[in-house]
Amino acid sequence: MRERHCSKAMCGRPSAYSLTYDYAGCSMAIGPLSPVADPNSYDLCAFHGDKMRPPTGWQLFRHAILGGVDLLPAEESDAGVTG
Ligand SMILES: [Zn+2]
Repeated sequence: MRERHCSKAMCGRPSAYSLTYDYAGCSMAIGPLSPVADPNSYDLCAFHGDKMRPPTGWQLFRHAILGGVDLLPAEESDAGVTG
């Protein structure tokens, strides 16, 4: 199995995420690295995946990533929090 690397120029880090674009919907999504190289997706390392910002007018979705990287914190009830 070939090792894949971040698609950012000058970055040789191993890829950790897959970035896909939805041009019709003006959105992009970062998710777990796809098991096979997808010509429509870009591999990103953890560093660049975390830094990724959508272009103006676009939305960026982050899928929950399993395996030790950021998970969105469970929604906490603020009913009991005052002050
Ligand atoms: Zn990178």
